[in-house]
Amino acid sequence: MTTPNEELSALSEKGLLRQLRSTRPRPSSQLYIGGTELLNFSSNDYLGLSKHPALIDASRQALSEFGTGSTASRLICGSLELFHELEELLAESKNTEAALSFANGYATALGAIPALVGKEDTILLDKLAHACLIDAARLSGATLRIFPHNDLNKLEKLLISSKGRTLIITESIFSMDGDRCPLAEIIELKEKYGALLLLDEAHATGVLGPTGQGLAEELQLQGQIDFQMGTLGKALGSAGGYLAASRSWIDLLINKARSFIYSTAPPPAQAAASLAALKILHSTEGVELRNKLHCHCARFNSLSPIIPKIIGHNEQALSASEKLREAGFYVPAIRYPSVPRGTARLRITLSAAHSEEQIDLLLAAL
Ligand SMILES: *Cc1c(COP(=O)(O)O)cnc(C)c1O
Repeated sequence: MTTPNEELSALSEKGLLRQLRSTRPRPSSQLYIGGTELLNFSSNDYLGLSKHPALIDASRQALSEFGTGSTASRLICGSLELFHELEELLAESKNTEAALSFANGYATALGAIPALVGKEDTILLDKLAHACLIDAARLSGATLRIFPHNDLNKLEKLLISSKGRTLIITESIFSMDGDRCPLAEIIELKEKYGALLLLDEAHATGVLGPTGQGLAEELQLQGQIDFQMGTLGKALGSAGGYLAASRSWIDLLINKARSFIYSTAPPPAQAAASLAALKILHSTEGVELRNKLHCHCARFNSLSPIIPKIIGHNEQALSASEKLREAGFYVPAIRYPSVPRGTARLRITLSAAHSEEQIDLLLAAL
């Protein structure tokens, strides 16, 4: 039997050991690690909302009114109006009949996907999909077929031979590459073969679309997607996850999604902050923040705020990250299993919280 220390040494030898580094509170564009102040190019706080006064005030008010915890599942202890208000605004934003919120994005996937499909069914999953989508697909017991990243030909072949209820799962902006799925073409295929589509907008929420609802909103395709999923923890600056769909699918989730039923509801203050963030997305301030973010992206010739610099070897990616750190920038090295073996990389994320000057400094350093 191997010991944990032997496992840790094996990880370390492969350059795959991960360690926590303690930090201190700083403005969103900065990070304090290892005793130094660094410019932060690692967070998913794309609009800088995690430090926004409106979110802080809303959380404070909810704390005073409701206390720190929800104390039980919403099916046990009653369901606060606040959660319903959040879900109604989510549904309206996503142009669906209903939405359900969860404690985080991971719990959304783990609860929702096994409630939507089971043993008799088929999941078709993009190769580069996020870990929580893979775990949820496995947990569902459905036959799991993986298609090469954004490969429509292969997806169509799998659709032809799939059994039972068929659920295609993909992301709008991919978390480690920053590229998009061919959404219109995927919708065409899912309609042709009568399949369902779950689109994870984790990195596009707040970033794309006229009111920041994501790629589906940008392409005016919201009405053709069965399940729009996302997190409230990235651009929305709070914590939580959601799935927006028709009323009957959401009612089914309330009855079947185990991470919703068997888990204490998130703190009311978390829902209050998310609601405040969503309202900002719909405001002119939201438009301005998104415009600023897109100007930053344009400096990098990028359509998304996620910019990968693929290096290959784990050790080389780590040392590139270390060099940037010495120069005053925090740009994390991302390794297997977050990305495929041999594609270790620097992952730069941009935010409206960055100034133009900070963007220029990073460009010069790279
Ligand atoms: C971060 C992420 C999640 C998980 O969301 P959390 O709220 O952080 O748990 C789900 N899907 C994708 C694509 C993500 O990047």
